[in-house]
Amino acid sequence: VSASTKLGSGQTSVALLGNGDLSSQAKSLSVNGVSHIYLVSDVALQQFGAETVVDALEAVSTQSTPDLVLIAGSRRGKEVAARLATRLKFGCVSDALKLGKEGGGVVANRLVWGGNAIATVTSKEKAVVTIPLRANERSSGSSNPEIKKVEFSPKTRGATFIQRKEKSAGQVDIKQAEVVVSAGRGFKKKEDLAILNGLASVLKAVIGGSRPLTSDLGWMPEDRQVGLSGVTVKPKLYVAVGISGQIQHLTGMRDSKIVVAINNDKNAPIFQECDYGIVGDLYQVVPELSKALKAKLGR
Ligand SMILES: Cc1cc2nc3c(=O)[nH]c(=O)nc-3n(C[C@H](O)[C@H](O)[C@H](O)COP(=O)(O)OP(=O)(O)OC[C@H]3O[C@@H](n4cnc5c(N)ncnc54)[C@H](O)[C@@H]3O)c2cc1C
Repeated sequence: VSASTKLGSGQTSVALLGNGDLSSQAKSLSVNGVSHIYLVSDVALQQFGAETVVDALEAVSTQSTPDLVLIAGSRRGKEVAARLATRLKFGCVSDALKLGKEGGGVVANRLVWGGNAIATVTSKEKAVVTIPLRANERSSGSSNPEIKKVEFSPKTRGATFIQRKEKSAGQVDIKQAEVVVSAGRGFKKKEDLAILNGLASVLKAVIGGSRPLTSDLGWMPEDRQVGLSGVTVKPKLYVAVGISGQIQHLTGMRDSKIVVAINNDKNAPIFQECDYGIVGDLYQVVPELSKALKAKLGR
């Protein structure tokens, strides 16, 4: 909704898909800029299936006749976007960081080559566009949109839902964290990560890591990996400890509000990207910083 409002179209319709009574969700989507909410409710939409979601969105498009369809750039969103674009005979642009209208189509900026360059792409036709998660502030305020129900008859599809397994309890969602403390290859061994616990606890932070510590060495779960092939975080405070600041890592945290870096190499690239930098040995700096913050914050 924020991305659409920024385009200044004034008319943003939201498609809300699910099963059962969707009125409370519709209420929470009645934020500034939303003019219509299209409700599609069917038991087939209880579980995610890209083909069924595309069928439902096609039904919505028949009623709402959009020029532009924006979809969250999650894995699921991207799966839906490409299929929907084909179905509607629209262009498709993924991961549009910045979006504008041009003629009857759109122009968008997106990161390419592992975040080393920005490409400007256009779709001369109507388009389906995915918007990176958390690229925009959440819309606020309230509106009084017209709510319309859309009839939808799901087709039998090749893929069938079999079962849903919850992730094991206790896992935290680093993407939602307001403070993230991340560890990098500056840590010599897995056991040493324990020294981050004190800092994380006083800052009420979630612990993340660079790729060597997650995917390569398996010192922490892969869902804590920040970066190009991991997750993108946008916390109020990001503390990079023993992380050099390669572009693939920066891609996942550069939108953090305040970045603090601790590294013993004063020439490490992370120091070009941080608001506060401490040149020093993390084994010395982290315990001292934790102690000082504890005294200051009284936690
Ligand atoms: C396609 C692709 C995708 C990738 N995706 C990701 C990704 O999602 N996330 C990611 O993180 N990386 C990713 N990478 C890897 C990335 O290129 C870097 O290799 C990685 O980010 C480096 O991790 P690091 O900074 O922890 O390690 P290093 O680059 O080895 O840096 C370690 C740092 O620790 C410092 N240090 C050493 N000892 C101390 C000490 N005692 N005290 C303080 N500082 C110390 C060093 O000065 C150094 O700057 C990807 C690479 C590719 C090719």
